[in-house]
Order: sequence, then C-alpha cells, then structure tokens
Amino acid sequence: MEIKKVGVVGCGLMGSGVSQVCAQSGYQVVVSEINEELLNKGLASINSFLTKSVEKAKISQPDKDATLGRIKGTTNTKDFSDCDLVIEAATENIDLKKRIFAELDKICPEHTILASNTSCLSVIDMAAVTTRPDKVLGMHFFNPAQIMRLLEIVKTIATSDETLETIKNFGRSIGKTIAIAKDTPGFLTSRLGTVQRLEAIRMLEAGIGTAEDIDTALKLGYNLPMGPLELGDFIGLDTALFVANAMYEATKDPKFAPPTLLQKMVTAGWLGRKTGKGFYEYK
Ligand code: NAD
Repeated sequence: MEIKKVGVVGCGLMGSGVSQVCAQSGYQVVVSEINEELLNKGLASINSFLTKSVEKAKISQPDKDATLGRIKGTTNTKDFSDCDLVIEAATENIDLKKRIFAELDKICPEHTILASNTSCLSVIDMAAVTTRPDKVLGMHFFNPAQIMRLLEIVKTIATSDETLETIKNFGRSIGKTIAIAKDTPGFLTSRLGTVQRLEAIRMLEAGIGTAEDIDTALKLGYNLPMGPLELGDFIGLDTALFVANAMYEATKDPKFAPPTLLQKMVTAGWLGRKTGKGFYEYK
C-alpha cells in the first residue's frame, strides 16, 4: 500500500517532531491537538526548529516553506478521514490511547494503518478496540524525532506481515533505521533505558554521586552522548514516571518501581527541560 497522507494525533514534544520529519520527507501531514492554544504551540515549535535549520544552512528557505506548506493543524479528528497512516503521539495513558484508537477506527477508511508512538504500553490493547487489529502496530520514534535515526517498530500478535512491510518501507522513506520488537512492556529500548534511568535515580537518592558525577561517569565510561539523568530531563520526568509506572504495573517487577525522588519531582512540577528544572536547571 502506498502512503501519501499521514495523520499525527498530538502536537507535543513527539507529535511535532514526527509531523515535521514526515512533512520534510514529502508526505502531506495533518496533526491534531486538544485545543487551539496547544496546537499553535506545537506548530510554533516546528517553525522554530526549521528556522534554526535554515540558519545553520542544513536546509534552504524554500525547503522550510515547502515543509510547513505540507503540515495542516487541526482540532477536529474528522480531518483524519483521508489519511493512509495515523500515528498517535498523545500522552502516555492507556485509557486515553484506547479512546483515540476507537475514534480513529470509526473515522478512517478501511485501508488506514493506525500506529502508536507509545514508549512502553501494550499495543494489542489499542488494536483490540478497533475492527482492524491486523493494521495496528507501534511506531516508536525517539526525541528529537527530526534527528534520532531509530524507528522501533512494535509488532503485535495480530499485526499482518503486509502492515509490517508497509511501515518498514515508510520508516526507511523518512530516513529511519528500523529495529523490530515484540509487543512486550517497554519493547527493546524502554525496557533497558528505564532500568538504567531508575537505577541512576536510586543512586542519586542514596548519595552515591551527584547528578553530574553519575552522568559524567556513564557518558565517559560507556561513551554515551547523554547521561541517564540528563536524558530523563530531556524526555520529561512526567513521561519517565508514566513509563516506569506502566512497566511496573504490567510486570510487577520491582526493578521498574519508580523511586520516591522521581515521584516527588513530578509532584513538584520539576519535569526537566520543559519546565526549566529537573535534575538540572535550564534557562
Ligand atoms: P507531550 O505531553 O509533550 O505531548 C502529548 C500531547 O498530546 C499533549 O500536547 C496533549 O495535549 C496531546 N493530546 C492528548 N490527548 C489528545 C487527543 N485526544 N487528541 C490530540 N492530542 C492529544 O508528550 P510526548 O513526550 O510528546 O509523548 C507523547 C507520546 O510519545 C507518549 O506516548 C510518549 O510515551 C511517547 N514518547 C515520548 C518520548 C519522549 O522522549 N518524550 C519518546 C518516545 C516516545
């Protein structure tokens, strides 16, 4: 099946990046938000990313204009009615995602593939509320989606080989390298990433090192571009907590139980870069 038009649900951190990367690769994109204010904020972040890319001579002004011209923002889910693929990038909450999938199933034509950008939740739970479980799968992008090369595709027990092939080809067409995972809590990436992040937070709680010491040790010791605490701030500590809670809920494995410090920071509104304070302070 040929994908021409892509829908993206949610224009937050991930939805804005996914919309941009699809539009930059020549696809028509329609992206939704729950209200005009959040939609304008998301579209402004795409504009700002593209402006910086023009300033750094990574893309030309006509490329920027053409990319923006391919993105249409909406607050009306009915605008997904002519999409060939819809990628859900709403908040990490299974009840919300199930509601979105049920609604998309009613609005989208029979051939439309429905994908979730969930970091760890069960994709078959979303597929099961639709009449097309064979056309549902996970498309896990990484932050920032415009730059990060990995697309982790999550195949459920019901995803058809045809759907998988279409999305592998689509992923390559937007410049991504693909890793395929089974539909298990956290897939390949969040399963390992969460263990590392939560252990780093427990080490900070226990006073084994400062945030800087822990991040420096991991970065230089293991040649990582970012330390686990720095990466937590970048992802958003609310999202990191959603993921840890969901993985603990699904597995009951204590290694996924969120440390008290993470819970308290989220309660305090210290969500990382997006609020200016997390394990570090940001101007
Ligand atoms: P975010 O909070 O920045 O954005 C989520 C957006 O979804 C919000 O703006 C919210 O208003 C919107 N939304 C909620 N319900 C909606 C609805 N019914 N229709 C349209 N929009 C709706 O969160 P995020 O970091 O972009 O995460 C989104 C998804 O991507 C989550 O499933 C998350 O686990 C996953 N993810 C996040 C990262 C990361 O680094 N933050 C990386 C990979 C995957």
